[in-house]
Amino acid sequence: MNENEKLKKMIELKSDLISISAHQLRTSLSAMKWTFKMLIDKDVGDINPEQEGMLKKSLESSERMVKLVNEMISINHAEDISFKYNFDDIQIRALIEDVLLDFSEESYKKGVKLVFEKPKTKLSLVHIDDEKIRVVIQNLIENSIKYSEKGDKVFISNNQKDNFIEISVKDTGIGIPQNDQEKIFGKFFRASNAKKKEQVGSGLGLYTIKGIVEKHGGKIWFKSNNKGTTFYFTVPLSK
Ligand code: ADP
Repeated sequence: MNENEKLKKMIELKSDLISISAHQLRTSLSAMKWTFKMLIDKDVGDINPEQEGMLKKSLESSERMVKLVNEMISINHAEDISFKYNFDDIQIRALIEDVLLDFSEESYKKGVKLVFEKPKTKLSLVHIDDEKIRVVIQNLIENSIKYSEKGDKVFISNNQKDNFIEISVKDTGIGIPQNDQEKIFGKFFRASNAKKKEQVGSGLGLYTIKGIVEKHGGKIWFKSNNKGTTFYFTVPLSK
């Protein structure tokens, strides 16, 4: 085995370890969540209001932890297979609709409306690894919900331009402060207004998805002010 192969093997082992631990954590956390839920629903006997309040807080924090672990799993997955890309020719609209469906409950609970502005005509196929681009779309939609308020709307669109398709996710949320804008794709970076609003976050999402988009030969960028943020990215059309 040469040095390069050894390094590759080590990275693979490390990411397997992360994956196994994260899945075990998720299983234990889910069990905890169900216990809190059963207690709150009084399935195993009466509780007083003070106990109910405490249990609800515990349920909320276990839900936050599950989300964080899920993020860890998806980022690990994206980094892990960064040297194993499987490109295919697909219709991106179907992928977007699928991701939107995954977020329907979360957005409904938060009171944020997701609006897919479908193009009038059928677009050409794109040449992508759909599992990786799914992570990109998921991340942008998740952020747009996370950094919005109840009653806000998020608009998702996809348009064909020259030899690529541009996807955008537009929100009317807290925006990215001017001073932080150039650091936003950096590893672990979180803007101060985001940290204040949402304590849970890794600052790894945008860093990871930038790598994925660039591996496809695409670009990712954003426009933001205090009225909201729009993220854009491009993917190439099939030849
Ligand atoms: P996380 O959301 O876990 O903090 P990300 O890497 O996904 O990490 O995002 C990095 C930072 O970019 C966030 O902490 C936040 O400051 C900013 N950000 C990303 N998306 C949005 C958005 N839609 N609106 C406002 N800020 C955003």
